[in-house]
Amino acid sequence: MEEIESKIPGFNLQEVIQYISKKETILYETITSNTNRTPINIYFLYGLDILSIVYLQLRYGVRISELLRATCRHIQDGYSIVVPGLKSSRYRLLELPYQHPSLLRACRCGRHALFSCSYKQVWRVYNQLALTAPPRRGGTYRAITHTGRIRFISQLKESSFPAEVIRDIVGHKSIKSQMYYLKRSYNNGN
Ligand SMILES: [Zn+2]
Repeated sequence: MEEIESKIPGFNLQEVIQYISKKETILYETITSNTNRTPINIYFLYGLDILSIVYLQLRYGVRISELLRATCRHIQDGYSIVVPGLKSSRYRLLELPYQHPSLLRACRCGRHALFSCSYKQVWRVYNQLALTAPPRRGGTYRAITHTGRIRFISQLKESSFPAEVIRDIVGHKSIKSQMYYLKRSYNNGN
């Protein structure tokens, strides 16, 4: 992976690793407060795509499926993407605090996925990072890979954001959707 990344013009892997290793960054804070590992640890174990996916969900509450569907068409610049929400929800701007090689692509053809991993891979990592929530009846992959989204929404609620504001931030169609997440986060004791 590192060999390919170092061949992309403008991408400096050493700089990225340097940032990922630092403490007292938004990345470090987000990852360590939610998982049993540090960002650099996750990078060495699973690579940059997985680290970015875990971070973006914990930071923005974005759905894993929205990230896995993101393509070169959604690139904003070397650090940010604008993803269309599923279920008729709104577009959201997501920013990485470090440069990601996929975001340096010049094309916007829409055929290049930004993160090359499968839903199942993400699900496995979530289990290994102990990022879990009580599964729904008949427990599905989504039940677990939604954990970051559940936590994000319950944090917004704790900060006393009005329901309409939360709806806009997380891209829900209606404020009713929040109840599902809040119920699950309370069950979880968070
Ligand atoms: Zn493309």
